[in-house]
Amino acid sequence: MKEIEAIMQRMDVLIADPSDGAFKEVLPFAELLEKLQNKKALFDAALAKSAELSDAGRIIGKTSHIDALAYLLDISKAEAFRRAQRAEEHYGNPSPELSEEDLAKETPAEKEAREQKERQDKIKQAEANKLALDHGISAEKQDTIRYELEKLNNNTSLSRATLRKLAMKEATNRSLEDLRNWTRNKVTRINPTAKDPLAAVKKRSLSIGRQDHDGGARASLYLDPKGLALLKSLMSKAKPGHLLEDVLDDPGKEDKRTKQQRQYDAFADILHRAHSGLLPGRAGVGTIVVSLSAKDVANLESAGPDRRYPTSTGVKLTPLEILRLGAAKYDFAAVLDSDSGRPLHLARTQRTATLYQRLALFASELVCTREGCDSPFDENEIHHIRSWLDGGPTDIENLTNICTHDHGANNDQRDGKDNMGYMDVDPQTGRVGYQPANRRRPMRFNDSAAATESGGAQARV
Ligand SMILES: [Zn+2]
Repeated sequence: MKEIEAIMQRMDVLIADPSDGAFKEVLPFAELLEKLQNKKALFDAALAKSAELSDAGRIIGKTSHIDALAYLLDISKAEAFRRAQRAEEHYGNPSPELSEEDLAKETPAEKEAREQKERQDKIKQAEANKLALDHGISAEKQDTIRYELEKLNNNTSLSRATLRKLAMKEATNRSLEDLRNWTRNKVTRINPTAKDPLAAVKKRSLSIGRQDHDGGARASLYLDPKGLALLKSLMSKAKPGHLLEDVLDDPGKEDKRTKQQRQYDAFADILHRAHSGLLPGRAGVGTIVVSLSAKDVANLESAGPDRRYPTSTGVKLTPLEILRLGAAKYDFAAVLDSDSGRPLHLARTQRTATLYQRLALFASELVCTREGCDSPFDENEIHHIRSWLDGGPTDIENLTNICTHDHGANNDQRDGKDNMGYMDVDPQTGRVGYQPANRRRPMRFNDSAAATESGGAQARV
């Protein structure tokens, strides 16, 4: 226990004085602590299992070992429950449980097939557990995988145990958000499509709460995919300066509204115009662009009516929902280069990207091109790879879309200042990626789950 005391003492030093010089010095120690914490996630699961086996609830005069864990370790019941669930993932039965009734109905051949599947599931479970242990997968990531896998139906082509192992492997090199997207995409693809296609439409609802002390009220909304895409498209117009003519006209003026306030103003503007009959036809709502690769179009029928395709708003829509939007009335085609997945030449000289260039970029990139990012096209900015001031032209080869967050971290001067790198084109493949400030470091590309759904990624396959 002396070691633990030494660790606590090192922590106390920084807690007492978090100075600017300390950060780099304690970083290796902090990384070690993080590893320790990830290992503890597995330890906690094992402890929960042994509490269950030893009937630990009796220690505090209760029946549930979860109650005992919560009381004895002074943690919330929710946390104790999560640990018990993690224990179930690691040590429990990984195969779907059959009812007595179903078991009785089994033929000998069915029984043998099931038992073989169960043996395979056990092996996959052990392999997934080993990955979690060897790579120190955090509790957060493990819980995310479990949460997403809960949506997997029974009797899928890939068993839950197999998918858990694959996800655990992805967890070693994906961020938490990317891992969630990856697992969710997999589950959606694997689940049989017998689900009610109108489930979300039936759930649509809008309720308005009571007026509060300030005279306003909260409202709550459940949007079906069509409504969601329309609203997201509308919200994507609410960039700084939206609806504020004095700010747009004067570059010295600043839009001080929060993102939430800008979005509300855009929404209220539509309400106001609808009320005063100022909405001519389809005006007010932005364009929603759907991304379909040539392969997608060819496979439209076999993919079935429930397959969802990515759009510029970040919302995925089925073919039926796309038709309902009236989006199918207009089609744009972009030819993508099969080596880089980038759109082919389309030159223009004005600074702002033209609609066609935006469409071509969308078709190719779908989301921000900085590694690991899933920000949807409509919310991003068009970036000149070689800066406009530096003579970079507004040609499709010199453009990429990046989110406002990552745009702020791009060093246009390319001078390595503050360890900030820049977006560039890989001379070997022609693909757009991030070049770290230290040019000896390799370029980093966006291979996140969201980015692999882009037309460019599909063309590169
Ligand atoms: Zn980004």
